[in-house]
Amino acid sequence: MPSRATAATPPDDRQDTVPCFDCDADTRRIWGGHTFTYGLGAAAVELTVDLPIHVCPSCGFECLDDEAETLKHEAVCTHLGVLSPNEIRGIRGMHGMSRAAFSKVTGLGEATLNRWENRILIQSAANDRYLRLLAAPDNLHRLKRLEAGPTASLPPSETDAGRFRVIDVSEKHRRQQTGFRLVVA
Ligand SMILES: [Zn+2]
Repeated sequence: MPSRATAATPPDDRQDTVPCFDCDADTRRIWGGHTFTYGLGAAAVELTVDLPIHVCPSCGFECLDDEAETLKHEAVCTHLGVLSPNEIRGIRGMHGMSRAAFSKVTGLGEATLNRWENRILIQSAANDRYLRLLAAPDNLHRLKRLEAGPTASLPPSETDAGRFRVIDVSEKHRRQQTGFRLVVA
């Protein structure tokens, strides 16, 4: 049985060939530097990222695939100094939690998490910092205890055991606190 010659086309170009939207010819997937504008007005910046571009050899039509869109999004996240969708997914994953469970403990909306993890939205600077804190198992453990409620018998985490005193706010203290007034001079 004669084997078909496949050596002429590099593997990278053969794998993800998609038909051209305009003329239906097979596009070629070529890696190269891609420059795009991010932001509006004075805040607009030009970002350049290496990504694969589908180019039609027949009509010149170019388009980006999912991998390219991911790389573009990651370049924007790097520019903004925030976690990428994969990094957010990684933080949730390192705690082995589903989006629903992570949402319940952290107070972050499940739909919002979904948007961050799937490139639909980029988290604010404040939420980005919150997410970074959530990467520490200790912090997530504190939230789990908070979420479980005051009567829950979740064991203290290894590192905070004995480090914090339990402060009992007695009835007397509470009464004193209600009498407190902030005086602005
Ligand atoms: Zn074409």
